[in-house]
Amino acid sequence: MKQLVVLGAGTAGTIAVNKLLPRLAPGEWKITMVDQSPDHIYQPGFLFIPFGTYQPAEVVKPKEQFIPAGVELVLAEVDRVDAEANVVRLVAGRELAYDYLIIASGTTPRPDQTPGMDDPEVWRKSVHEFYTLEGATALHEALEAFTGGRLVVHITEMPIKCPVAPLEFTFLADAYFKERGIRDQVELIYVTPLEGAFTKPVCSTKLGGMLDVRQITLEPDFMIERVDAAARMIVSMDEREIPFDLLVTVPLNMGADFVARSGLGNELNYVPVDKHTLLSKAYDNIFAIGDASDIPASKAGSVAHFSMDLFPENFLNHVAGRPMTAMFDGHANCFIESGDGKGLLIDFNYTTEPMPGKYPLPGVGPFTLLAETQTNHWGKLMFRWMYWNLLLPGKDLPLPALMSMAGKRTEG
Ligand SMILES: Cc1cc2nc3c(=O)[nH]c(=O)nc-3n(C[C@H](O)[C@H](O)[C@H](O)COP(=O)(O)OP(=O)(O)OC[C@H]3O[C@@H](n4cnc5c(N)ncnc54)[C@H](O)[C@@H]3O)c2cc1C
Repeated sequence: MKQLVVLGAGTAGTIAVNKLLPRLAPGEWKITMVDQSPDHIYQPGFLFIPFGTYQPAEVVKPKEQFIPAGVELVLAEVDRVDAEANVVRLVAGRELAYDYLIIASGTTPRPDQTPGMDDPEVWRKSVHEFYTLEGATALHEALEAFTGGRLVVHITEMPIKCPVAPLEFTFLADAYFKERGIRDQVELIYVTPLEGAFTKPVCSTKLGGMLDVRQITLEPDFMIERVDAAARMIVSMDEREIPFDLLVTVPLNMGADFVARSGLGNELNYVPVDKHTLLSKAYDNIFAIGDASDIPASKAGSVAHFSMDLFPENFLNHVAGRPMTAMFDGHANCFIESGDGKGLLIDFNYTTEPMPGKYPLPGVGPFTLLAETQTNHWGKLMFRWMYWNLLLPGKDLPLPALMSMAGKRTEG
């Protein structure tokens, strides 16, 4: 019997197993998943917890609920992969031999990587983040207690998962303070290492304009050197200083440490893979999927979903010694909350920037690309139900895995 081991039972690992299992010959495969946590967390919900829209309990469900019968879920931390011996070692001492390995261990925020950021004097007091459940929950209390001053929203370095999330947080903060009647007492500053509001030029111009309209100051090209906890400011490599009363940062995002310990990662612990097939560049029996890989696409659940639509066919061909023919194109789409019950939607891939138009039905929508609508906002909220009920269980959605130009317009 062939052994398939999957490291990480988050978004990508769970979708992969649910899509793959029905296509494997019965009795020929043993699938084992390893994850350090019994909880599956709907991470897009982190955006709404600071503003009290979602409660923490609304974004957590047991992982077991989404793992198909016949697949073993081992709750343990991965210590390392011995890729020469085809063995995974767990921290508790157990070893798992594999014929094929899928690394799906995601990416996590690492405040420990920036001097001063996790200083106990300021961490979760005046310096917050919303990329973890604990962080988003603590930030909710901090926002409720905030009565005015300088709120700095900050990105440490790219890539980060859901690269639009800090912008969404900023738009929602603007709307939140307006609703509380204290917007005129809050100075909002958006600090990014990018040269504009976002990575893609057309989108960056659009989103930059939305910051302007809301009187949010954009501070581009800011490469942080340290957080000065005593002076309550962030300091850049080129010695710019930005003081804050409340800092909401996105710490450096990094792949799992076991990837580095195993000699399988790049400088940020992401596994180098072929960007179309997700096969490791170093080992012919290892794939890396979701945020754990180094593909130049957004680190997003939508990318995990679209790429996993193509993955089973490639996996089966590869195992049978045939060429992999399904070529992933980096397709991503992201709803962008813009506050006041509205949102945008962007749809793009490795080579095509977000463009205006309608999605998913050309000319009809119901979602509008690159423009603020209420329907887009409802789409974002509806997505949580789709995630638990359709995406994670690996059900087929009427959305093409590869990006389509249908419904898109080239003019602005
Ligand atoms: C604030 C926020 C908002 C977001 N909004 C959106 C959005 O609107 N749309 C969108 O598409 N995406 C969004 N995302 C991104 C999306 O959640 C991720 O891209 C997606 O979850 C990636 O899936 P993954 O399986 O690669 O990683 P994860 O889902 O993070 O799963 C990784 C798993 O690996 C396990 N693991 C890691 N290390 C080890 C180890 N050493 N041993 C054992 N287990 C380990 C973890 O416990 C985890 O269960 C958002 C993310 C955040 C943080």
